[in-house]
Amino acid sequence: MRGEERARRIFSTAREEKRSYVLEYEVKEILKGYDIDVTKEVVCKTVDEAVQVAKNIGFPIVLKIVSTEVVHKSDSGGVKLGIKSEEELKAEFDKMLALYSGKFSAEALKGISVQEMVSGEEVIIGVLKDSQFGHMMMVGMGGVFVEVFKDVAYRLAPITEAEAMEMLKELKGFRLLDGYRGRKPANVKSLCETLSRVSTALEELPEIKEMDLNPVFVNDKRAVIADGRIFI
Ligand code: ADP
Ligand code: MG
Repeated sequence: MRGEERARRIFSTAREEKRSYVLEYEVKEILKGYDIDVTKEVVCKTVDEAVQVAKNIGFPIVLKIVSTEVVHKSDSGGVKLGIKSEEELKAEFDKMLALYSGKFSAEALKGISVQEMVSGEEVIIGVLKDSQFGHMMMVGMGGVFVEVFKDVAYRLAPITEAEAMEMLKELKGFRLLDGYRGRKPANVKSLCETLSRVSTALEELPEIKEMDLNPVFVNDKRAVIADGRIFI
């Protein structure tokens, strides 16, 4: 299914559930429809299902809470990284489920996402819709670069891959992607593709008010979305 059709279905589900917030796994479903690389993941309801999924994906894996009432997952203990074995997975799955079953309604709780653990430099992609100018895109290096140095670049959508490259070159932290201190150069081309494909999605989906892809991991092989939210 193409991205636009996926998005329309997901947005209408969100509206039916009276929320303007599109969940991480739904964002990833939409992005896949635009050929954007996202972490492999399955939302699981039971520990047995989680074990099967983890075996298919391969350890280490990541667990994340999936609830319509949780926007910032790690703030409330809803992200567990680097799970290395079936035993560890079972224990952490039960722990997370117990933690959130008490806090939230059963309706809000959709399950626990079992996902691929990825690595690389962390980049953030942001989008804000202005009523006059349309979608403004932002890219920056993750962590302290954004929080402390405000090291980000902006362009109005739509943007091409070449324009995405210009944005990245404006970043002080670009050196981190470019083979800094003997590190393997990151696959910057694939990050530029991601940015221009996000731009295509924005053109087709004017109802997006805000999008936050944070983080996007970029390594020598790929640029892959590890977390995302959309507000419609
Ligand atoms: P939050 O809702 O708190 O933003 P995230 O999904 O972004 O939750 O997870 C928190 C942090 O965990 C991320 O900023 C990233 O550093 C790390 N992380 C999340 N998903 C993955 C993943 N699939 N592989 C590796 N690290 C991840
Ligand atoms: Mg995040």
